[in-house]
Amino acid sequence: MATLTNPSEIARETLKQLMSQRKAPSPENYRAIYHEIAGIAGKATEAFPERELKALVLALPRETPVQQRLSRQLDQSLKGANWEEYKKALVAFITEHSAESELNWGELIAEFLRQWEAKQSNLTPARKRESLEHVLASTSKNSEILFGRLQRLVKSWSLNKAEPDVVAELEDDVAAGTEPLSESPPAVPASAAPASRAAELLPELRSLFAYTLEFVVAPQLDDEPDLAAQAKTIAAAVNSATSLKAVNELMAEIKRFAYRLEFLAEDRNELRGGLLKLLQLMVDNVGELVVDDRWMQGQIAVVSGIVAQPMNTRTISDAERRLKEVIFKQSQLKHSLIEAKEALKQMLAGFVDHLAEFADSTSDYHDKIEVCVEKIGQAEDISQLQDVLAEVIGETRIIQINAQRSRDDLRVTKLRVEEAEKRINELEEELDKASMLVRNDQLTGTLNRRGLEEAFDSEVARSQRRKSPLCVAMLDIDNFKKLNDTLGHDAGDAALIHLVTIIRETLRPQDTLARFGGEEFIILLPDTPLEDAQKAIVRLQRELTKRYFLHGNEKVLITFSAGVTDYRRDDTQASVTKRADDAMYAAKKAGRNRVVTGNN
Ligand code: GH3
Ligand code: MG
Ligand code: MG
Repeated sequence: MATLTNPSEIARETLKQLMSQRKAPSPENYRAIYHEIAGIAGKATEAFPERELKALVLALPRETPVQQRLSRQLDQSLKGANWEEYKKALVAFITEHSAESELNWGELIAEFLRQWEAKQSNLTPARKRESLEHVLASTSKNSEILFGRLQRLVKSWSLNKAEPDVVAELEDDVAAGTEPLSESPPAVPASAAPASRAAELLPELRSLFAYTLEFVVAPQLDDEPDLAAQAKTIAAAVNSATSLKAVNELMAEIKRFAYRLEFLAEDRNELRGGLLKLLQLMVDNVGELVVDDRWMQGQIAVVSGIVAQPMNTRTISDAERRLKEVIFKQSQLKHSLIEAKEALKQMLAGFVDHLAEFADSTSDYHDKIEVCVEKIGQAEDISQLQDVLAEVIGETRIIQINAQRSRDDLRVTKLRVEEAEKRINELEEELDKASMLVRNDQLTGTLNRRGLEEAFDSEVARSQRRKSPLCVAMLDIDNFKKLNDTLGHDAGDAALIHLVTIIRETLRPQDTLARFGGEEFIILLPDTPLEDAQKAIVRLQRELTKRYFLHGNEKVLITFSAGVTDYRRDDTQASVTKRADDAMYAAKKAGRNRVVTGNN
């Protein structure tokens, strides 16, 4: 049989032979007859499984130089369908891998343990742990790289330096795009102990940053859900960015976030400024419009004061509390006032009606008398006159009774009007008083006693919430009666205002000042331990001796005695005030112009 060369002819002939030889059409029989016809029997009885072998090579790691070299050999043996070469390269791959790693790991671990336990002058255990974590995080899947890096790390410990080569290598790898990276920032020079301490604190800094973003920044962005979500995403990413690439991306995102926050802050400032201007405008205008309404002036003054100062939540809540109180009182009183005025109007209207009736009845009387006068003129005898006179007397009596009644009515109405007027005056006075409530103490502008009660409650709540100390000081001007007696009551008033001005200028804005009585003041000092509170009041005392009160051209020295105490857990306002008052009294007894702390 002539040797066939065309594969399709060989295939056709193979099928024919399979049928004529009555062999089963199995792949083996087909292959044997095919090779026989093609003249290659005995040369290649087995097919080269190129596809499977290729898949196998692809599955092998190519991370180390040795692996890469052996993989290249495997690729070439595949291309040449060279099973022998392939076998050799594969065996080398496995042998190389296991032989090298087994041998070195044992040694490395022993050295690692030695260096781990050894004390190096500039390396703390925490620093070593952190370095190890860098290496492990950066090379989690590749044991050969891990081996190399660990080896260098251990060597750097043995040389007592801070493994800069390890980190540098990680960075180089990232730059080359070959390696998943360390999650940590670059190592610091080992010689710098504070820097090493700083590096130890980095994980804390990282979680603090994440916490700040998630629990401080995000909640403040309620009206900006996008930004709030971004803050939370960054917070999560800060904790989980484990490669340099991720850190770089995160930094870019943080920058974008910061820009957006900056813009938002600018917008909010502008908005706040705009609202304040608007409020100022309105308050000024209302102030002018209601210039005669003394019941509004106090409230307008309070709001004006707030708008003019830098914003402070304490003054705003103070003002709100005072306004609410005064508005409530005023609304009640105004209601009664309107009712009283309405009653007065009705009384006057009734009286006018009555007068009209009286006028009608008198004109009727006039008409009737005129008729009688005519009748008298025409009377021809005395009997006719008697009838007319009886008529006149009758009419006159009726009008007299009417006049009497009107006079009585007038008297009653007059009394009622007087009563109504009195009630209206009383109500107006009450309204005046209520309006004054809003301005606290009228003379000094400090909180009055009622204001103090509320401020005390909120300061106690704040101090408990923040677990911060709160102190209470009681001040009483020394020999104030004498000052009043010698310089006059007005000078006494001015001296009180002088003291308040100096207290305000010397103490902090968050300290609360209230006039407790005539020349007695209470100061609440939040976030202040007793010792500091005492120092603050002594400072105030010095300031007062430096800044004389001027009465005309006369310099008058005002001094005060003070008691200071701290608020304690079971204190009521009365108990803490009493302790401060007792201490103040002790200061008086000790000679005045001094500060005593109330400890028991
Ligand atoms: P001490 O050093 O013991 O405190 O003596 P003192 O004179 O300050 O104390 P005292 O309580 O005897 O007198 C307080 C005086 O303060 C009585 C009163 O005339 C005066 N005073 C109280 N309130 C006012 C006020 O609003 N204006 C003025 N001008 N004087 C006031
Ligand atoms: Mg007093
Ligand atoms: Mg006094």
